[in-house]
Amino acid sequence: MAAAETEIRYLKGVGETRAKSLNKLGVFTLGDLVDYFPRSYEDRTQYSLIAASPLEEPVCIRALVANTPTLSRVKRGMQLVKFRAVDDSGSVDITFFNQSWIRNQIHQGETYIFYGKFSGNLTRRTMTNPDWEPETREGVKTGRILPKYPLCQGVSNKQLMRCIRTALDTIGDGVPDALPPRIREEYHLAQARYAYENIHFPTDFGALELARRRLIFEELFVLACAMDQLRSARTGLDGILIPPAEIGRFYAALPFTPTGAQKQAVVQALEDMASGRLMNRLIQGDVGSGKTMVAAACVWSVCSAGKQAAFMAPTEILAEQHLATMRGFLSPFGFRVEKLTGSMTAREKREIKAALAAGEIHLIVGTHALLTADVAFSDLALVITDEQHRFGVGQRGALSEKGHTPHVLVMSATPIPRTLALIIYGDLDVSVINELPPGRQKVDTFTVDESYRQRLYGFIEKLVGEGRQVFVVCPMVEENEEFDPTLKSAVEHAEALQEAFPQFKVACIHGKMKPKEKDAVMASVVAGTVDILVSTTVIEVGVDVPNAALMIVENAERFGLSQLHQLRGRVGRGRHKSWCILISNAKNEEAKARLKAMCETNDGFKISEEDLRLRGPGDFFGSRQHGLPEMHIADLCGDVRVLETAQSAAKALLKADPSLSSPENAALALRVRQLIESNQGTVN
Ligand code: ADP
Ligand code: MG
Repeated sequence: MAAAETEIRYLKGVGETRAKSLNKLGVFTLGDLVDYFPRSYEDRTQYSLIAASPLEEPVCIRALVANTPTLSRVKRGMQLVKFRAVDDSGSVDITFFNQSWIRNQIHQGETYIFYGKFSGNLTRRTMTNPDWEPETREGVKTGRILPKYPLCQGVSNKQLMRCIRTALDTIGDGVPDALPPRIREEYHLAQARYAYENIHFPTDFGALELARRRLIFEELFVLACAMDQLRSARTGLDGILIPPAEIGRFYAALPFTPTGAQKQAVVQALEDMASGRLMNRLIQGDVGSGKTMVAAACVWSVCSAGKQAAFMAPTEILAEQHLATMRGFLSPFGFRVEKLTGSMTAREKREIKAALAAGEIHLIVGTHALLTADVAFSDLALVITDEQHRFGVGQRGALSEKGHTPHVLVMSATPIPRTLALIIYGDLDVSVINELPPGRQKVDTFTVDESYRQRLYGFIEKLVGEGRQVFVVCPMVEENEEFDPTLKSAVEHAEALQEAFPQFKVACIHGKMKPKEKDAVMASVVAGTVDILVSTTVIEVGVDVPNAALMIVENAERFGLSQLHQLRGRVGRGRHKSWCILISNAKNEEAKARLKAMCETNDGFKISEEDLRLRGPGDFFGSRQHGLPEMHIADLCGDVRVLETAQSAAKALLKADPSLSSPENAALALRVRQLIESNQGTVN
């Protein structure tokens, strides 16, 4: 019997060409093939009588062919095969387009099963291109629950069904199974073999439900085990003791007075670090609430104790900005702050790494480059990740391992649903910054269409004339990247704006530029020499330019609500009255509802709830920005009950076998390891 690891090209009926097509679906081995689940199912188990069936709904009928099928040619060489079929209740005219061979396969006087929709009217019914099979072969396409798979070119549903059938028969009991037998029994879950058989070819809906439950449980159970392992690597441990420093000295050097909420978050974090236990704290606060200062206060405290801190940002631009901000906060105290990012030269990196290892650098700000194996610290005591949902869960763990279990501070502006929080943050303590710095004005938000553009340009002219800066965000980088002439591309739009405003300096920034180029542009924006910055969403997260007073979003319907909220958060950060203009010609109701919600509230939590309601959990963070692995069959927001069960099962199992080293947990251990490894890559 072949193993699940066997490559699909060795499967009977799969040649090189078919194998290549299947590869496009992410299917390489027999195991992948049986793991390729249907997206939906068609219930073809119930037969209807012709006269009793509704129109325009798929039904299965069993009918006798009443006349000899005719073949005719109509315009443009189109071929029609036509005949009439009858049952005890009535008749239907059936037509097939461009399948002339059917004429020789369907015979007068024989009975067939047809699956399709009735059209026409109730007295004269028609059916076009139904799925069909002779009564004698019933059960292949009809009389059953038919799985429907996500397809690509070169692979039809029928072919996939056949390949999966063969694969299941070939692998037999060797289907992937990560569940230890004890767990399966305790939670009354189906056997793996049964589950795989019935997720693809369910005998009835009861069996399908059992199969789904088992597979969803398995997936969430593996995820819960992985998260638990990552977490237990750093919780419940002794933490480096950071004696409470006189934080008033730090506050005294700030250019502003901290808000009550900021101070409270700082107190909580400093207490954690002074407790002798490891800190795992999440600072959650809406955009612009001043999370960076809280981070800086913690860093100051750690550096004052003679130890090092690391600050991870999701993008180079942000790392650059945090570097500048942190230097502002910490250099007055003589602390050295440096950065380490992927775009630095090998020599620069070498020097920084040496200084870091020697303990000459107090705070290192960086991107994923901080995660590489050859970065060593002299005395790392605190790791901060900003907007952490952008990092893979595995990445977070990797940085924590670099010191002697450093304290962890996570900052997020994205309010997340409870279920996800349970997994992503699990045991983190949470500080909420529910207060904005004083003097902030609400960012007035409007949705407008193309007809408003001239007036908008007048507004830009006025604002820039007063010394303010303007952000314009476009969904695309270059024209033709996606064929839709109405989409604004950042590059071309910047040129157009420069032409419209020759007296102003327009700059453009997008993800395809080299990090050095991006840094240079961003630096001139912060310095105030750029008046209008056109960009793709690279500026979405965290960039702080207090002088910016207008955010314009082109093709706003293309963005998610939470994303728009982040974008809007780029303005209104200083003392200037600020605006956000969403440009959209969208007619669709859902898009309109989303943009309306943006205009009505500035509250990030409300917006995320609305986003979740309108778009569903799948899209919640845009493209997988939450850093969790992509789920195969489970729905992280929808399958809450199973998730909770799987989580407590995982906890109990890991309590008994923390390192998953017992033989009956071997398959589980392997899957958990694979999950963690596959998720260690960049999520951005
Ligand atoms: P976020 O929570 O989005 O990361 P930042 O930390 O970037 O917000 O802060 C946004 C802006 O508010 C920055 O320019 C920062 O200097 C300023 N700021 C932070 N705290 C205060 C405060 N207490 N009073 C006035 N301005 C503040
Ligand atoms: Mg921030």
